[in-house]
Amino acid sequence: MEIKFWNKQIEVIDRDSLRKLQLERFRKTVEMALKTTFYKKRLAEVQIKSIDDIRSLDDIKRIPFTTKNDLRDAYPYGLLSVNKENVVRLHTSSGTTGTPTVIYHTEEDIRNWTDLIARCICASGVNRGDVFQNMTTYGLFTGGLGFHYGAEKMGVLVIPASSGNTRRQLKLMKDFGTTVVHATPGYLLHIASQLGTYGIKRPELKLRKAFLGAEPYSEETRRKIEDLLEIEVYNSYGLSEMNGPGVAFECVYKNGMHLWEDSFLMEVIDPVTKEAYDDDSEGELVFTTLTRTATPLLRYRTRDLSRVYSDICPCGRTHKRIARIKGRSDDMLIINGVNVFPSQIEEVLMKNPQVGTNYLIEIDKEGVLDRVTVKTEINSKLFTGDISSLNRLEIAIKEQIRDTILVNPLIELHEPLSLPVSEGKAKRVIDNRPQI
Ligand code: AMP
Ligand code: ZN
Repeated sequence: MEIKFWNKQIEVIDRDSLRKLQLERFRKTVEMALKTTFYKKRLAEVQIKSIDDIRSLDDIKRIPFTTKNDLRDAYPYGLLSVNKENVVRLHTSSGTTGTPTVIYHTEEDIRNWTDLIARCICASGVNRGDVFQNMTTYGLFTGGLGFHYGAEKMGVLVIPASSGNTRRQLKLMKDFGTTVVHATPGYLLHIASQLGTYGIKRPELKLRKAFLGAEPYSEETRRKIEDLLEIEVYNSYGLSEMNGPGVAFECVYKNGMHLWEDSFLMEVIDPVTKEAYDDDSEGELVFTTLTRTATPLLRYRTRDLSRVYSDICPCGRTHKRIARIKGRSDDMLIINGVNVFPSQIEEVLMKNPQVGTNYLIEIDKEGVLDRVTVKTEINSKLFTGDISSLNRLEIAIKEQIRDTILVNPLIELHEPLSLPVSEGKAKRVIDNRPQI
């Protein structure tokens, strides 16, 4: 297998040198953070007043966590550490969980971010000569411009398609011979189901790879998209508070996502006790930016749940890998007292070839009990239309979901394309239970 690097020196750096680099950058980050009104006050409370108060990476444990609410409270300029004249761009989170947060970038920040994206694209084996169709929203959302700059820097031909308008997406793919796409998993699944509708046959497309992220999805969904489109799917992780995409990405071995540790200092904590793990336990990812100048963030609690793979990757990169994100701790549903992640239901659905490309989970209160309804589209190709095969599928899905999440759901099978489609982050859960 051909292994390509964007910046080999940094990507295969030995762990000791990496720790040294991290300490140097961590100290600089604290120095920048002390220039913000927010951190000046926060750090004074733990007796950190200058860069001299940071001597080792372990000193990070003295620093309080930063949360999404802190960012909202500091809105609009409380977390800005440079003069406004030095800021060249801002981005916000997509606001899936409340008011968005804002992150500012200097020219240097944009350059570093762009470099990280180029590194990710290169790690997937994409080359000059590839045609890259960026099907995520351009604008405040980071996936559009973030990937656009990185892909241009890497030297591929970029089609800034943005999201939506499936007919046009497919036409662009066919006319320009798109080889690589970037999208949300939900939207690419939708596109995959639409080839026939727009009279496109797979051999007319040159597609070979897709980068999918921005929302949790299961290994089964990856496989389903890979099979439907005959492509290779790479998992891409990021969040607007850490620039956006370009935080962690899969290499050609696709065995977890390399977390770019020269740019982000990662901790995994127990979300309840907030203790940092020193083993590979599953917990909440916490990041400290290491190169950002306009909005440095210290110990930012992502709410994303994952775990670290510390074993060596055959690609030679020394940066640790993280497992597929299980979901956000605030996405976790409690159904009749049982903790359930929507991704567990998705995993069951996507394992069944008769299931289509879209689904929705609805939760209602029936007396004292919670009632879960899983609405799923069926696959037009495999569906023969006879009632007994529909019944069999319904029972099979019901049993598989019950075995996985220990909750007995109602299953509704829907015709292809009858459930609402999302072009960006999908809303998969409708919780109608009264808020307590
Ligand atoms: P935003 O800040 O709006 O870009 O949203 C970032 C959030 O999207 C992250 O904190 C994750 O919860 C989610 N996310 C991004 N990439 C992935 C991925 N590859 N797998 C699962 N969730 C993801
Ligand atoms: Zn690797």
